[in-house]
Amino acid sequence: MSERKRGELIVLSGPSGAGKSTVIAELLSARPDIHFSVSFTTRPPRAGEEDGVSYNFVSREEFQRMIRDGELLEYAEYVGNYYGTSLKVIRDQLDQGVDVLLDIEVQGAAHVKEKCPEAVLIFLIPPSVEELSRRLRGRHTDGEDAIALRLDKAREECRECPKYDYLVVNDTVVSAARQIQSILEAERCRVHKRLRFAESFINKSDT
Ligand code: ADP
Ligand code: 5GP
Repeated sequence: MSERKRGELIVLSGPSGAGKSTVIAELLSARPDIHFSVSFTTRPPRAGEEDGVSYNFVSREEFQRMIRDGELLEYAEYVGNYYGTSLKVIRDQLDQGVDVLLDIEVQGAAHVKEKCPEAVLIFLIPPSVEELSRRLRGRHTDGEDAIALRLDKAREECRECPKYDYLVVNDTVVSAARQIQSILEAERCRVHKRLRFAESFINKSDT
């Protein structure tokens, strides 16, 4: 029987430096059918970041206009910059049956869960605080002040992880991406998403 489904909305959060972008790249190489939502931000691009690929980089004025005009599914202010998700892009993809992946922080994730209770929320953490600190330094994208801010923020964010559906420890990139694939596979098998497969048995009269 053909399964005409709506796409899954998948939210990945975790402290800055946990490895979200790295794990997402690995996941998308195995699951290129997943649409990665490119967020809007007022943060300046880091070296190597391309407009429209890593983020859509916009001014504070443009971001505030998007908020006023109701163009964002969710948004949050994080370490002094706005970040937000386009409502139209997400809605169009889900309606076409495409799975959509958001890389967003904890306040935004909570808003998504309120608006879309069926969304799957996954929290990614590194194996230890020491490893998080090593990864932030190893990335060479932030100075010591920004790193200290991000480590403080990490403590706050981890308090929110009980609100998530799944917790994945990013020990190795390959195993973290594989665990996320397993979660998505399990989510597809939820009974309420598959009742139509059982219906033909239930409704069939004995022969
Ligand atoms: P985030 O998107 O969560 O801020 P990144 O993907 O930018 O994090 O990863 C932060 C740093 O940690 C990068 O230098 C990345 O190469 C490294 N990293 C990510 N995952 C792992 C891992 N499993 N083991 C070792 N280093 C990792
Ligand atoms: P970074 O500046 O390191 O790229 O991202 C900082 C934080 O912003 C990360 O936790 C990332 O998940 C989050 N983020 C990125 N895009 C969005 C978004 O559209 N909405 C929200 N709420 N957070 C976002």
